[in-house]
Amino acid sequence: MPFETKALHPATLAMGVVRLALPVPLFREFDYRIPAGCRKPLRGDRIKTTFAGRTLTGICTDAEPVDPWPDAKPFLELIDDAPVVGPDLMDLARWLSEYYHHPLGEVFAACMPGISQKDPRPKLKRVWSVVERPDAAAILRRSPRQRALYNHLLRHAWSTEELLSESGFSAALIRSLHERGFAISAAEAVSDRSPSAGPNDTAIALPLSEEQQLALERINAARETFAPFLLQGITGSGKTEVYLQAMAQFVANDGQALLLVPEIGLTPQTIARVRARFPDATILHSALGDQERALAWESCRSGTSRVLVGTRSSVFAQFHSLRLIIVDEEHDSSYKQQDGLRYSARDVAVKRAMTLAIPVVLGSATPSFESLQNARRGRYQPLYLRSRPGGATLPPLQILDIRGVVLEDGLAPDMIRRMRQHLEDGSQVLTYVNRRGFSPVLLCTTCNWIAECLHCDSRMTTHRTPAGLICHHCGARAPMPAKCPNGHPTLLPLGTGTQRTEEALERLFTGFPVIRVDRDSTRTQSHLDEHLRRIASGAPMLLVGTQMLAKGHHFPAVTLVVIINADSGFLSPDFRAPERTAQTIIQVAGRAGRAERPGEVWIQSLQPDNTALRSLAENGYETFATEELDRRIAAGLPPASAMAILRADAFDRVQATGFLESLKSRIDSSIQVSGPAPAPIQRIANRHRQQLLLLASNRTLLQRVCSQLRLIEAPRSLRWSIDVDPYDGT
Ligand code: ADP
Ligand code: ZN
Repeated sequence: MPFETKALHPATLAMGVVRLALPVPLFREFDYRIPAGCRKPLRGDRIKTTFAGRTLTGICTDAEPVDPWPDAKPFLELIDDAPVVGPDLMDLARWLSEYYHHPLGEVFAACMPGISQKDPRPKLKRVWSVVERPDAAAILRRSPRQRALYNHLLRHAWSTEELLSESGFSAALIRSLHERGFAISAAEAVSDRSPSAGPNDTAIALPLSEEQQLALERINAARETFAPFLLQGITGSGKTEVYLQAMAQFVANDGQALLLVPEIGLTPQTIARVRARFPDATILHSALGDQERALAWESCRSGTSRVLVGTRSSVFAQFHSLRLIIVDEEHDSSYKQQDGLRYSARDVAVKRAMTLAIPVVLGSATPSFESLQNARRGRYQPLYLRSRPGGATLPPLQILDIRGVVLEDGLAPDMIRRMRQHLEDGSQVLTYVNRRGFSPVLLCTTCNWIAECLHCDSRMTTHRTPAGLICHHCGARAPMPAKCPNGHPTLLPLGTGTQRTEEALERLFTGFPVIRVDRDSTRTQSHLDEHLRRIASGAPMLLVGTQMLAKGHHFPAVTLVVIINADSGFLSPDFRAPERTAQTIIQVAGRAGRAERPGEVWIQSLQPDNTALRSLAENGYETFATEELDRRIAAGLPPASAMAILRADAFDRVQATGFLESLKSRIDSSIQVSGPAPAPIQRIANRHRQQLLLLASNRTLLQRVCSQLRLIEAPRSLRWSIDVDPYDGT
């Protein structure tokens, strides 16, 4: 860190100065004197101090800086008894700050949401459960009180100590049962909202297939060394079973494991499966309140919880003895944070495993090209699961040419017939639609007027339930117009969203329930859970939904999957579009044919001869990905090169472009720069958005340039950011 140094004042040294990272948008740290009567702070301590007239909470990054600022002022207060940021997270935070060009103090604020909370480390309530053992009756024969407690816990698993004491069991009694190995404790970090194990979730590890066994052995052999694995397993091949058994191995002897799942991966099914194996697992889901979240983090830090399951930000949890990290569906877009600290939780997981010298498993049926490239280059060890246990087959992808076909609300007559057949056979039918709402465009057929957002350069989406126009970019709403501004009543919704398909299916298949799953129909977790419960009944019904329906679920009764408009993705200008589109198609297709009943998957297509689509349908993801990755590399695009996007937005378009021009003028010719160009959506909420795209043949070059650019201060009316490894590549 560049610090101005003055001659050291001996008195200052004697007083003691500490260096703090403060949550301010500056790439430097600040020195403060330890006030009288305060204990000496340690690295990782939270410290309250004044800064430019405000009171801020910072993290001590150096308790004895060698070049202390001689005029340092005293800080206000040392908040906790002990540091809240451990050494490995401290190193990780520094790496994040450098790699993503985000100020260190703001990295802490972003990684540890509770950092400015009063009490980030609340007291835990202990809860107790039994370790069921066949020899219990025999061994506890002589200890009637312990035996009573054992029997009580059998019926009342996970009771708090208060509850047990009300039932007449003392803390000492609990501890003696614990010492004899019949009781286990967990921190009550997660409320009863988490579903418990279901009847089908076996607490016992399944006998593994040969492929699974091989994968498990390779992971187990990598104990206590940094070893990244790419587990490529087709949908339903038993990846989760491998994760669970690997976790069981690594948490033995006081170890801990972290399982990262995509945002919508925390379904009741996943949670129940984890809970069946690890009753004391901590689940960090979005429904947790601040206090519950803090408790969950604390149970990991203290080691009371052996397993943490959570989404993106869980990668920053502090552990007592983390031994294994697993990233499920590693290709999923929700691992990339799209604002503030724009990190990829997958990449951070690998970095963290490296610092801790532990294995990390990235699993997916459709791995990202970044990970495939790392496997090609020998950085990740590939593991494969190519069949489904029990011999269930992966349904082939079939393409339905819909050129010249008159569609009924987006569905071809052939498809409708097929859907009816499956329903009448007692099966479920899943329809995938890539947009929510009723229709993406509202057009006047007389004057060609199109409903557009007043604040964005985008079209308003028509919604039916509730009726109205909504901008999916800024959230602006307008009532459904009866006429266009020129007075014509000839308004026509164009294109298909989930609500339109839902309506069509209800009309076409009266008597069969239609369940729609998208962001609008699942405002809360309980809505989603309710939908999933109805689907799990297995009764014949129609499911319609977006990505939410496409990921991670098991729908054993689904035998027909219809993809009505996904292939247009192959034509998008984003160089990653073919990869993303293929991932979506394979993931949706993977919902079918999981049980004894074989499945069918149909893709309605207007470009049935598209080479990418054909390759995917005929050869599967692995071959498609190999070809497409070769193409990307030949074109010098990521992952063959390193990319960053510099974005700027302002109410004044000229200001945004002017600022980016000035950045561009500082970039030397070793970097390929394009732009300033308008962002894919040029204006959102009245702000004009422009961007510069940086491409470098190697990462060191790119990082060197970004490290210089990040120090540039912009006028207040302009916002700008650096996005390293951006998710969108247009
Ligand atoms: P994935 O995570 O790859 O989609 P899962 O682990 O969810 O796959 O497995 C798919 C289904 O196969 C689940 O119902 C699971 O219980 C079952 N399964 C997994 N491994 C085995 C096995 N070794 N023997 C029998 N069934 C298995
Ligand atoms: Zn808008």
